[in-house]
Amino acid sequence: MKIDTVRSDFPQLRETVYGKPLVYLDNAATSLRPLSVVREWEDMSLKYNSNLHRAVHKTAVDATERYESTRAAVAAFVGAEFPEEIVFTSGTTQSINLLASCLEGSGFFSSGDEILVAESEHHSNIVPWQLVSMRKGLKIKVIPVNSHGEILVETLSELLTPRTKLCCIAHISNVLGIVNPIREIVDICHANGTLVLVDGAQGIVHADVNIREAGCDFYAFSGHKIYAAPGTGVLYGKKALLENLPPYMGGGEMIESVSWEKTTFAPVPGRFEAGTQNISGTPTLVPAIQTCKILRDREIAKEQEDIKAFMAKSLTSNPDITLYGNPEDPAKKIPLYSFSVAGVHHEDLALILDKMGIAVRSGQMCAEPLMNRFGVTGMLRASFAPYNTLKEAEYFIESLNKAIKMLK
Ligand code: PMP
Repeated sequence: MKIDTVRSDFPQLRETVYGKPLVYLDNAATSLRPLSVVREWEDMSLKYNSNLHRAVHKTAVDATERYESTRAAVAAFVGAEFPEEIVFTSGTTQSINLLASCLEGSGFFSSGDEILVAESEHHSNIVPWQLVSMRKGLKIKVIPVNSHGEILVETLSELLTPRTKLCCIAHISNVLGIVNPIREIVDICHANGTLVLVDGAQGIVHADVNIREAGCDFYAFSGHKIYAAPGTGVLYGKKALLENLPPYMGGGEMIESVSWEKTTFAPVPGRFEAGTQNISGTPTLVPAIQTCKILRDREIAKEQEDIKAFMAKSLTSNPDITLYGNPEDPAKKIPLYSFSVAGVHHEDLALILDKMGIAVRSGQMCAEPLMNRFGVTGMLRASFAPYNTLKEAEYFIESLNKAIKMLK
């Protein structure tokens, strides 16, 4: 079976917790690492360790070559037109903060301008915009979701005004698992002259991302959710837009020339990558991308579909369970399930499941406004990766039912 071969590349899947085989269902928080990623990190640390872009010696040239060829590999993976459109960051959070700072510094926003943010966004795609809004006197308008968790695209026509400069939206919600209609939203926003930032932290894992087809202006994601080293990430931006942005941080390697009278800045993307970069981590995006491609295999996709059908049926047929993010069309949802159980606290359930070897997330999942929307203080979330199996899903449901019985 292909899935067994794939699983053997992720050593953590052979770990036990409390004497039980680990069933890792917290993949939306961070994925597990395959050996190929760890080996790349090891090679970069033990064979190619050297600072980037600076020295002329062979090791520095080799390290720089590996770092820059990673940029080209990422550009090809997401369908960017130019490698320069890929800015390396420490993750989605830094990507969005970088963009917020640079847009602010460029004079893009004037007092009274508006930013649209979806109700289902992660705090990383809310708070950076609140910070800019506080400083620049902007207004944040919320795009609502319906009771299934789907974004109400039809509200855009009312929300958009001539002052709407930017729309910030997740490709896939980390709480609801719903795939948002990015192309449709981009077309509506662009017709209004509004730029679109897509938070792709979950989208990059589960969708075949083609940025040019999506048409968005910016796309942010983290390496650690696609099997790469933590502390790696990407901000994609259309070249013409990035070229009009000022630097994010000042420091080494982001400049063209420095003098007391006048400092000029490096071309993109170097302008946004001040200081020593993640020398060992960023090149792990290459084997990580390879892993993503392997995991998109047909046999593995079929197992994912079986998991989705089983999970949806099991969770919706239990009258005590409320599933958040339940679109009519199952193709619109990834195998990510946030729910609550009547009369049982999500944290108690998570603790009992942990004792059964199951790692799940409980709490607000960095989306407090969405918790308020559904009138809950938190949820329990089981998020599957393509290396998870139907057997694990079955064990999860069986264990969940046992845990509910114990707590009721
Ligand atoms: N946005 C979404 C949709 C996410 O799922 C996450 C991670 N939970 C983030 C942003 C933040 O990612 P990071 O912590 O890697 O910066």
